[in-house]
Amino acid sequence: MVDTNNDYILTIDLDWAPDWMIEYVANELIRAQVKATWFVTHASPAVEMIRRRKDLFEIGIHPNCLPGSTHGRSEDEVLRHLKKIAPEAISMRTHALYQSSLFLVKASKDYGISIDVSLFLPRTPNLVQHYFRCQGANLWRIPYFWEDDVEMFEEDSIWALSDPRLHVKGLKVFNFHPVYIVLNTNKFSVYEKLKREKPIHTWNLDFIRPHISNNHGPKTFFLELVDYLSNFGGRCINELISNKNK
Ligand SMILES: [Zn+2]
Repeated sequence: MVDTNNDYILTIDLDWAPDWMIEYVANELIRAQVKATWFVTHASPAVEMIRRRKDLFEIGIHPNCLPGSTHGRSEDEVLRHLKKIAPEAISMRTHALYQSSLFLVKASKDYGISIDVSLFLPRTPNLVQHYFRCQGANLWRIPYFWEDDVEMFEEDSIWALSDPRLHVKGLKVFNFHPVYIVLNTNKFSVYEKLKREKPIHTWNLDFIRPHISNNHGPKTFFLELVDYLSNFGGRCINELISNKNK
């Protein structure tokens, strides 16, 4: 069923998840020895733990440039803040997929970002990395293929690796969030209801336990992908450009 050319890639947007959720996801990847790229929103002990596992994990940044962002009031403040947290990051996915050509040029020229993963082309075959040339920017763009929260709004959601729509040619970059993995819910309204009750960084297992789903959802699919990728080890985003000519 699945081809073996190792083009299934795992990425994770932290989106301010508490450490116990990040640790759960990281430990599943470590247990299976599967690589992933983490787009970080904040510093924490769990982020430090991920950073130490350079054999498996790449750290990228997840800048929030929306109004009211805790990362800063301007694009420069936001990027400066995140590069202080993750100076080694060369990969980026923007929160809410914020983008403009000027922002991409800035991230590339002034903040050392050489790969952007903010293009979402869901369920699209034949995806491939491409090189963005603009005003002196040096930027690879890697489109991504699937995202957990977006899938919750689909009438024909994909929650299993056996789904034929996942077996198309091309790169298939998946994006998960620790909070949705832990909740395993396929209803965004569950997350919204809990978020109205308490800010996410204060959630503990007791608080969310009654709302954890036993159906097919982000967690069952994530674990299935991790299990599949354990046959190959998976790849980080920065490995997708190492042998490519511009
Ligand atoms: Zn985000």
